[in-house]
Amino acid sequence: MQGELKLCPLCGSVATEVTKGISACCSNDNCVLCEPMDINEWQSRPVEDALIKQLDRANLVTNNLLELSTLVDHKFVRIKDILGKIAEMEVTIILKDGTVINSGELARDGIETIMN
Ligand SMILES: [Zn+2]
Repeated sequence: MQGELKLCPLCGSVATEVTKGISACCSNDNCVLCEPMDINEWQSRPVEDALIKQLDRANLVTNNLLELSTLVDHKFVRIKDILGKIAEMEVTIILKDGTVINSGELARDGIETIMN
């Protein structure tokens, strides 16, 4: 057996190594697991290990989403700043088909779209 004995999976008490490297049990005499058992079985926590792995993956996804959210927020702030500058210019653009576009109105519409 390598490392420290894990805590009792049922009551959380400290484990006792009954026979070094062979058997362990819960130190709580009122616990169901107070009888010596194979130390490898004691140390084996497949459900707990699987849940820890799942939690690690969930934390990784959460952290990536938070990082992405921050990047997107910065992009929106930058786009809003650019649209604000365009809005200040109040340039009129006449397209080939005759459509008249006012840069100020267009930018203000863009800002409104971003904010909603
Ligand atoms: Zn116990």
